[in-house]
Amino acid sequence: MTDLIEGLVVSHLGQGIAVEVENEILLCQTRRKLDTVAVGDQVMVTKSSVDQGRIEEILPRRSLLQRPSRNKKTRPVAANIDKIYVVFATEPHCDFLLIDQYLAICENKNIDAVLVLNKVDLSNIKDLEAELQQYQDLGYTMHKVSAMENIGIAELKAALNNQISIFAGQSGVGKSSLTNALIPDKQLKTNTVSEITKHGRHTTTAATLYHLPEGGDLIDSPGVAIFGLADMTHPQLAWGYREFQPLLEECRFHNCRHINDKGCAVRAAAEAGEIPMQRYQRFLKLIQKM
Ligand code: GDP
Ligand code: ZN
Repeated sequence: MTDLIEGLVVSHLGQGIAVEVENEILLCQTRRKLDTVAVGDQVMVTKSSVDQGRIEEILPRRSLLQRPSRNKKTRPVAANIDKIYVVFATEPHCDFLLIDQYLAICENKNIDAVLVLNKVDLSNIKDLEAELQQYQDLGYTMHKVSAMENIGIAELKAALNNQISIFAGQSGVGKSSLTNALIPDKQLKTNTVSEITKHGRHTTTAATLYHLPEGGDLIDSPGVAIFGLADMTHPQLAWGYREFQPLLEECRFHNCRHINDKGCAVRAAAEAGEIPMQRYQRFLKLIQKM
């Protein structure tokens, strides 16, 4: 008798997938067709021994984050993410092009995006205020925090409740520092997963889902830093700039590229100052990069 039980994929390990079932963790294998299972997936498993099982089915996903892999294919990074926290900082530097890119991905994938300015202890954020205000005017929530000085961390914890979140952002902005501040016993938990599943060590590149002490789940995925425009099309990128959305119908030509096309409502709005010119210019840059 092999009963199907529901579980949550908490980590991808070298030789298996750690699935949390009730209060225990099973090291699971998948059937070949299921090799695209991602951390955050809700799955049905059958138990084959006290601590092992097999994933039989992936339940429908609310969202899926992918990143490019070899042969122009994509690999799933994380499933069922509700919110992406786009982390940035003045050190190394503020990469607004990358921020726009993440926001565009979220806009197209039905994932909420929130901005996190880390390292506010480095008192050089004044020059950024106008740019930051633009994002807030577009409806994006902004957290100003310091992982190092424990500024704004309590508010961030409260915001992470009741959902699955992930941090994205370029290397060096403080994603691991924030993760460590939010999950004080992270190392302990990581070791527990490895121990239970009898894998000496848990590779540092493995994406892992952590339950936060104050509620909510955080997926720590070193690889997510590099998910990029991946498979986004030109119209999707335009849709990804949320202030363009109501204008897209107004362009004279339905296949308008919003570059220097005649009758482009997006360009006209940017030139008239109705939407932020800096964002429009970054859109043009991203188009070139595609
Ligand atoms: P990641 O690559 O995004 O995971 O960034 P890390 O968490 O490894 O942090 C990169 C560097 O920034 C490290 O040297 C951290 O000590 C530093 N750092 C992280 N958070 C803060 C902060 O709030 N303030 C300052 N001044 N430095 C920070
Ligand atoms: Zn247009």
